[in-house]
Amino acid sequence: MRVYNLAGRLALGVGADGAVDVETASEGRFTSSPQAVYERWDEFAGWARGFAGPATLAVDPARLEAPVPRPAQVFAIGLNYRDHAAEAGLALPDRPVVFTKFPASVTGPNGDIERPAGSVDFEAELVAVIGRRAEHVAAADAWDHIAGFTAGQDLSERELQFAGSAPQQFNLGKSYRGFAPIGPALVTLDEFADPGDLELGCQVNGRQMQKARTADMIFSIPQLVEYLSAVLPLLPGDLIFTGTPSGIGWARQPKELLQAGDELVTWVETIGRMRHRFVAPQR
Ligand code: ZN
Repeated sequence: MRVYNLAGRLALGVGADGAVDVETASEGRFTSSPQAVYERWDEFAGWARGFAGPATLAVDPARLEAPVPRPAQVFAIGLNYRDHAAEAGLALPDRPVVFTKFPASVTGPNGDIERPAGSVDFEAELVAVIGRRAEHVAAADAWDHIAGFTAGQDLSERELQFAGSAPQQFNLGKSYRGFAPIGPALVTLDEFADPGDLELGCQVNGRQMQKARTADMIFSIPQLVEYLSAVLPLLPGDLIFTGTPSGIGWARQPKELLQAGDELVTWVETIGRMRHRFVAPQR
């Protein structure tokens, strides 16, 4: 099952590239809110799996917005791929490195992103979306609390991220306007042959910069759910950015950072791709 945010309204994928408006197709049983659906995810998923009508909408990339537009919490994991820890010159972490991207930085899968001053970098990531409140959930039960996956970019302005003396400002440097794009769809776990092993990557101006498999994660998604939910509840519609593999611009010699005019394409196998162009600040 694929779920979209089409111009601000919840849509269910039908066939290869069609969709239906959920509020209309469900005769009002579910609202048009792409965020509120996660509060009733199990009920929605049951209805959606039984839906057999024809597509009435085209999935137009220009109209796609973030499939989870207003998450209450956005968790992000640093250093979660072995090869990325190596390129950063850091030892493998013995527990997940957790920070946040403030929720106002979430944006859609296509379009322009303002490039602030500094050193703006890309991090292709798989993003897990919580579909059921998770508190003290064991790793063995974690998949039951995931609504599905989407693709994400953990955009990062490195100078603010590493500014000053400790502690580093990960949260702010990764939360500029538009720095948490996600999409193009929320895809449920049954769509993947193995939800623990997906190819992901990104290209800048057509050149491949990152390409890896999520099986190389140090802490798996079930382990992350166990670790996080032991501390606080994970709420329906929360996001977990699960870390980036090697190839980031900051670790290259010389550094290769994003400039105004650059096009960034980010993909995750089966989920699809996002396409963003960086533009000079408008102020
Ligand atoms: Zn990241």
